Amino acid sequence: MPPNNILEGPKVAPWTCPSCREAVPRLLPNGQRNRVRLASPDMLLPVPAIEAAANRVPGPRATEVCFPCSEAYRELLGTLIRPPGEDGDARGGPGLNDTGIVGALLPIAGRGTRVLIFHVVDSLLQDTEIEDLRRLNPDRLTYPGTRGAIAPQLWAIYEQHLAELHAAAPPEGTPPPD
Ligand SMILES: [Zn+2]
Repeated sequence: MPPNNILEGPKVAPWTCPSCREAVPRLLPNGQRNRVRLASPDMLLPVPAIEAAANRVPGPRATEVCFPCSEAYRELLGTLIRPPGEDGDARGGPGLNDTGIVGALLPIAGRGTRVLIFHVVDSLLQDTEIEDLRRLNPDRLTYPGTRGAIAPQLWAIYEQHLAELHAAAPPEGTPPPD
């Protein structure tokens, strides 16, 4: 029973988001659709080794996820990540040689989102870990200010992704379009 000073939203049937697998409303409180269509750049970094690894993940792909999941995709794709169980906080410091990168997030219909993590092994970019999005520990995400011991190939992918994000974002102080 909601508190009586809150107006109930429109009655809309829920749908099950293929990523979080929750029954979520079809509309957001602002009336926009709570289904976001994913394009390839939303799901994987444009690197041949990453595209090849993503193609090897079995299962039918979902095409739409809920708005919160689409935001999670945006935050996670291209983010550097530490191995599970590593103590301490590497954020802000130099990167370590065991730092990986989130190269792809794939919504598998009926099975949730697979997060593909990549490392450079023997000079080759390889998918070393596939994790369920709901089980990924956010404390593993890291934002080192300098490359440190991170593999140069991996750092280059990270910097390229950051450059693309900055190019897509409007400059600070730009008035919103009418
Ligand atoms: Zn979702």
